[in-house]
Order: sequence, then structure tokens, then C-alpha cells
Amino acid sequence: MDQAETVRTPSSWVVVGLDNGGTCNNATVLDATGQFLVDHLVENPSRVQDGPESAVDSLTDAFAGILELTSTPLSLVRAVGLDTPGPASANGVISSKGATNFNQVSWHGFDIRGALEARLGLPVVYNNDANAAAVYAHYRHFGAEASENSSVAAIVGTGLGGGVVEAGKVIRGVAGMAGELGHVQIPLHGVLEDGQPVPLCNCGFSGDVEAIASLTGIRNNLLPYWLSRFPDHPLASEPVAKAAKMLRGYGEKEDSLALAVFGQQAKAIGKLFTIAANFTDPAAYFLGGGVVEAAPHFRQWFLNLVREHTQLRDEQKEAATFALVPDLDMAGARGAAVAALDTVAAAG
Ligand SMILES: [Zn+2]
Repeated sequence: MDQAETVRTPSSWVVVGLDNGGTCNNATVLDATGQFLVDHLVENPSRVQDGPESAVDSLTDAFAGILELTSTPLSLVRAVGLDTPGPASANGVISSKGATNFNQVSWHGFDIRGALEARLGLPVVYNNDANAAAVYAHYRHFGAEASENSSVAAIVGTGLGGGVVEAGKVIRGVAGMAGELGHVQIPLHGVLEDGQPVPLCNCGFSGDVEAIASLTGIRNNLLPYWLSRFPDHPLASEPVAKAAKMLRGYGEKEDSLALAVFGQQAKAIGKLFTIAANFTDPAAYFLGGGVVEAAPHFRQWFLNLVREHTQLRDEQKEAATFALVPDLDMAGARGAAVAALDTVAAAG
């Protein structure tokens, strides 16, 4: 992947992947043969807090910047893949109620995909960030067999994002809300301790996956409960939001309270994957997010626990795999690019 020395025939073409985040955009280029032309993060400020116009300007800068970096002529670009945090429609219209990253009124109901498409004069293919990460995990894992396989990905972050991929395609749903795995309600038996309050989610549900397996779930639900069981823990003297972020470091050191919290998260994801096993019976179960960036022994412990708590039938155990989502910081841009490549390829 030596982009500077790549010789392209006149018939070769590329797609660009743009991952829009709360502070930065990340950009990549994928060629028609499935090779990424950049192997690292290429970021610029996303300026989403300045409103849609500034944000579209920034995405346009990211697009121009990545073409320059990879010495790619504009004429070779067939399409652009874009992902942003949700909630947004399947076609990239930000929720009419806004969203955490898009809180200005001018964002409410804003068609970011359409705006970027008009600006660049190229087709823009949209996915939300969790779906893009799921698509990338799927393609990275299955390679040439991607279109013959299915997978489910749970991405543990501030919330719990996810994606369901069937025959290589992400399931979008009629309103673009398929794969909102965080808001699937799970059986809590075997997850919660006796007397532990049922965790509440910001979406209004109680006992859904995100209420447990997310940073927000730790802060609002799990940590307050477990600190009541470990009142002398050093985190008890920290503000809860800060303590929630510090917890992973304690987990890596095998602290009892931290392992209790992360153990509950792993069990909750196992319950979610058990539901997935009975819905689409996927070939792979992917786990991503902050926990994947943790020390190797810790993330392996977590993945093993998820696997232990996913109840599969014997035939499924034989056929399915569990894996961590690789290259997480680049997964959004890369997944967005893969989705764009697929769209161009399908159009012939
Ligand atoms: Zn929820």
C-alpha cells in the first residue's frame, strides 16, 4: 500500500470515505480493487458545533485533503461514503429532534448527505457511524467472502451502537433504525444482582442493552449501584462522570468493583447476541468500542465473557465466530468507503 508509487491504469477508480465525528473528520481512499490508500488516521476539525454550513465546509476540506495526500485525481472518484453519529434517517437526514453531536436547531432535520452530495457533485452514500464500523468489521473479517456472510456488531461507547449485516449488506430498515442494538430490551435474570435497580436508558426504556453496556450506563446505573457495595473504593470520592471514565483503567488492574461492572456489561451483550442468534443466526459476532482499546488481557477477558453468556445451539457454536472490531478509530471512514464501493460496484 505505497500510495505515492501506485500506478493506476486509466480504467481504475476510487471512492472516498469520510467519517464525521463530534470533534474531527477522518478521511480515507479505497480503490476499485479493495485496497485502502491510507493506513493511518487523516483528520481535520469537523466544526459540527458551528452548524451545518461549517460542517459541510469541513467535510469538503477533508475530501480535498485526502485526494491531495494520496495524489488521487478528482476524475477517478466515483462516489463518497459518509458516516455520522445518529440518530439520522437511512439517507442521512439528522433527527428532527437533533442529536448529541448536532444540537443546534439548524441541524434538526438537516440532510447532511444531500448537502454534501450537492457540494461535491458526486454520489454520497450514507451510513450511521455504528453501521459503518459494522460494515468494516464484516469486510475485514470475511474479505472476498463478505457477500456470502452475515454478522452482528456491538460497539460499546458513550452509548451502544451496532449493526446487522446480512449477505454483506447492512440492514437499514424502513426508517433507517435497524441495528439499534442498544435499545433492545434483554432478560435481566443472570445479569443483575438481587436488589439491584433495573437500569434506565436515556431512550425511555428500562433494561435495554445500552442502559448497561455503555459509558452512560456505567455512569447512570452500574457505578452508583456498585459504589454502594464498595463504599471505600477510591472512585467513590470522584465525581461520577469522571469515575465512569476512569473505570476501565481499574478493570485492566483487575479491581473487583471494575470487574463486577464490566462483567455485567459482558453478560448484557451476551444476552443481546443470544437474541441475534435467534433472529439472523450470524456467522460472526463482533465487539468494538472503548473496551477494544483496553489492554489485550482485559479485552480478551471481556470477549470471552461475552461468548460464555451468548447461548448458542451446538450447530451455531461450530459455525460462528466471535471477534474484536479492528482498527476502530479508522473503522467509520473505512466502513463508509466500503459501502460506497459496494454501491458503485452494484450499479455496474
Ligand atoms: Zn435505550
